[in-house]
Amino acid sequence: MGRKFFVGGNWKCNGTTEEVKKIVNTLNDGQVPSQDVVEVVVSPPYVFIPLVKSLLRPDFHVAAQNVWVKKGGAYTGEISAEILVNLEVPWVIIGHSERRLILGESNEVMFFLPYLSFWVVIIVPEKFVGDKVAYALSQGLKVIACVGETLEQREARSTLDVVAAQTKAIADRISNWDDIVLAYEPVWAIGTGKVATPAQAQEVHSELRKWLHTNVSADVAAKTRIIYGGSVNGANSKELAAQPDVDGFLVGGASLKPEFIDIIKAAE
Ligand code: PEP
Repeated sequence: MGRKFFVGGNWKCNGTTEEVKKIVNTLNDGQVPSQDVVEVVVSPPYVFIPLVKSLLRPDFHVAAQNVWVKKGGAYTGEISAEILVNLEVPWVIIGHSERRLILGESNEVMFFLPYLSFWVVIIVPEKFVGDKVAYALSQGLKVIACVGETLEQREARSTLDVVAAQTKAIADRISNWDDIVLAYEPVWAIGTGKVATPAQAQEVHSELRKWLHTNVSADVAAKTRIIYGGSVNGANSKELAAQPDVDGFLVGGASLKPEFIDIIKAAE
């Protein structure tokens, strides 16, 4: 199908200058397949991005972990797509479950306020994950867009409905999928050590691809990389990577360790 394997390392809110240098040294020394076989992106905390860029091997690239939803300006504490472009940061992660669940980002954020005898619905567009993806793409960034269900949603057998709704929120706002990698990250697998089985990952990836085929186009379904995230490590990555619709990984905890190199090697 010609989808190049993609491995992203999400360092989250971790690291000191010394630790960051150590991780980069380990990555720089790692023997990995060529760029023709695998695309590797690491995502340090914002403040370490210039340092990482200055030290990192040229065949690996950097991603931001988040971006502001629209043009920058008077938004204290935020980082805009324009700033990322200026700093030559090519990728950004959007819609990570930690941002959706802890910081309240969602497909749609609605407030219901009583007004006279009516309920008034107020939608907060700044928090729309789809809007973030659309704006980041419009500025020339490439996006790792995350979707995934909670344990309760899986147990209620609504996994496919949840990931379809999250994907639709993005699809509704964009017209070009060339610069998107879709990351399926079941929330119950993130940072828990409870990895999805290869069959569970393959089932959701295959359904997401079918969703893209039906709702976007056959071409987008065939070309879009769908990567898996959730407790991937050096030991389980090979079997997951063997699934036909698993096109790579988004890795949290293990991306801070030397085994990230083994995960990249799962591309072979
Ligand atoms: C993540 O945060 O995207 C992730 C997949 O984390 P972990 O690999 O630690 O489960």
